[in-house]
Amino acid sequence: RSLDEVLTQGIRDIPDYPQPGVLFKDITPLLADHTGFTQVVEAMAAFGKDDDGEVVVDKVVGIEARGFILAAPVALALGAGFVPVRKQGKLPAATYAESYALEYGEATIEVHQDAFAPGDRVLVIDDVLATGGTVEACLRLIRRCGADVAGTAVLIELSFLPGRKRLADERVDALVTV
Ligand code: IMP
Repeated sequence: RSLDEVLTQGIRDIPDYPQPGVLFKDITPLLADHTGFTQVVEAMAAFGKDDDGEVVVDKVVGIEARGFILAAPVALALGAGFVPVRKQGKLPAATYAESYALEYGEATIEVHQDAFAPGDRVLVIDDVLATGGTVEACLRLIRRCGADVAGTAVLIELSFLPGRKRLADERVDALVTV
């Protein structure tokens, strides 16, 4: 199967979740498909390599919670370390925190202050790019730690939302844009 077939078969739309009017992209069928999941992990890992196939990242960041599921196998595939960026209050040691606006209210994400070595090159992974607020806050966290952002890779980009525009100065790759 081609990657496009895998993505078409493995991602389903759930209407009105988590609230009325939202069409939620559910990747659980894809995760349950071993060969499909393997293809997706390889395709995302390619964003951590240069044109010659050399690995150019030291750490892969996963954004809680679905980002973890994708980022951990990508990190292993690249021979890189895995760093969790978590919702407020979940990480046990000293953290940096960054807040960003949601449609209603605000969200805060955190990273351990010692998660990176100075100058670490970092690939950020999440499942869905929507408004871009989550990724933008995550990039601020990584830079506050003194690490370098190599790029961001998402499984799905929602092109009807302003995520790409908001991250215009950043390298963002998506396996599928809807
Ligand atoms: P953003 O900050 O608006 O870009 O939202 C991105 C975050 O919301 C990501 O961490 C996603 O996991 C989550 N998200 C937004 N829309 C969807 C969706 O349709 N399916 C799954 N996750 C979503």
